[in-house]
Amino acid sequence: MKLNDDVAVLELAMGRPDQPFVLNLTLLLDPDHGPALVDTGVPGQVGAITAALSELGIGLADLRRIIITHQDYDHVGSLHDLAQASGASVMAYALEAPFISGERPPRFATPESLAARPDMRAAAEAFIPTPVDELLQDGARLDLAGGVRVVATPGHTPGHISLYLERTKTLITGDALRAEGGRLLGPNPQFTPDMAGAAQSALALAALDVTTIICYHGGLVSDDAAGQLRRVAAELTAGLQ
Ligand SMILES: [Zn+2]
Repeated sequence: MKLNDDVAVLELAMGRPDQPFVLNLTLLLDPDHGPALVDTGVPGQVGAITAALSELGIGLADLRRIIITHQDYDHVGSLHDLAQASGASVMAYALEAPFISGERPPRFATPESLAARPDMRAAAEAFIPTPVDELLQDGARLDLAGGVRVVATPGHTPGHISLYLERTKTLITGDALRAEGGRLLGPNPQFTPDMAGAAQSALALAALDVTTIICYHGGLVSDDAAGQLRRVAAELTAGLQ
């Protein structure tokens, strides 16, 4: 779904028929620098991503950059295959990169987490570490889609980033925030070890001039996005979420 000349959302349908859910990958469009994909789904989704791209008239080989918000398996799952097939340059926050490139195990593949969640073993084994070509810093501005600012949003993971598109005032939250039916929510506490950090991150996001929010889990928030962002930041700060 193309939102405007700068941004499209690729909705990847997931789950069982009785428990469907959607991952919302963002595609940044830029006629000069080529398209950039934000996050890559779970392992085995290159076909689904290729199909979603082709609906926008974009081939896999056109993809120039892949930006990863954080190390979780539903964000890096198809990274290796996508990077190989497209030749796109892989970008991630410096703090998060070692968990993507294989210097350190991502949190879903540590012995402790696999002992706690044996059902994650297949995903952990399917993940292929991938070199990060470009390390991003907090506050960096990418010359893409009218200017994309990197905002460090630790909490869900230590090196989590969100992206702010200056021209369209669009915020790509990754998993720093979620949404449900257009209502903005904080990150899932079950998978967010540092909720205090997440609250500080939400406050930083609430300081931005935002009209549209894209949550990886939950999709678009466009009804009073700025107001909802302030509400969630206040709720998280008060420990209500
Ligand atoms: Zn996620």
